Amino acid sequence: MARTVLVTGGNRGIGLAIAQAFAKQGDRVAVTHRSGEAPEGLFGVRADVTDAASIDAAFSAVEAELGPVEVLVANAGMTADTLLLRMSEEQFTGVVDTNLTGAFRVAKRASGKMLRAKWGRMIFISSVVGLAGGAGQVNYAASKAGLVGVARSITRELGSRNITANVVAPGFIDTDMTAGLTGDRKAEILKSIPAGRMASPEEVAAVVTWLASDSAGYVSGAVIPVDGGLGMGH
Ligand code: NDP
Repeated sequence: MARTVLVTGGNRGIGLAIAQAFAKQGDRVAVTHRSGEAPEGLFGVRADVTDAASIDAAFSAVEAELGPVEVLVANAGMTADTLLLRMSEEQFTGVVDTNLTGAFRVAKRASGKMLRAKWGRMIFISSVVGLAGGAGQVNYAASKAGLVGVARSITRELGSRNITANVVAPGFIDTDMTAGLTGDRKAEILKSIPAGRMASPEEVAAVVTWLASDSAGYVSGAVIPVDGGLGMGH
């Protein structure tokens, strides 16, 4: 059955691959984009996840065009890496506001309609770093770890209404976010990945579409790594 799907930050990278995977299987897909244009063939709404009013307007536009959001993918995210000693409070709170509070804002806005429909799927894109930590990433790791608490609490609150909330924890994925890594750093990271390679955004999308499917209806509060074995044990 076709569903209405909203992917935040769906204009590029992992979010775009997720949106395209849902569209390919026949779902009604909307993406939020903060900058630029919406990707071709997908319904785009401009939104900044740090701004509750812009999220509300985006949801209203999607509801008017495609119906209530049944599958929410909280994907929008950013990094502002630096060592703890040098990290400003703004660098910390800015990343948390986008990655964690932003996910809370969209989940809250989606939950009312999901409760009414007695069906919903929320998928939060975290990171292996949220579970294992990362030097220079106190802000990012904290924001991504927080998503686990969000998804598990939503599972406890809304689980009896056919609403699932899960976390996907990607490892190193080939997108703009990782394009900035130096050759040396990349080689070092690759050495620590049992799979010996980075993943494509499509490999993350495949897990997300499965979590949204009827066959994953009894999976909730889970953290699913898509990391080639990088985070084993975390
Ligand atoms: P990109 O940097 O390629 O894309 C990030 C997306 O998030 C863009 O669409 C961007 O919009 C959007 N975004 C950022 N801030 C905001 C905001 N305030 N409001 C709305 N949208 C915003 O990243 P990836 O595709 O690599 O990452 C997607 C998600 O996956 C992120 O949450 C990231 O943390 C996570 N992740 C990525 C990994 C990787 O190796 N790439 C590994 C583990 C997790 P805009 O185009 O306007 O900037």
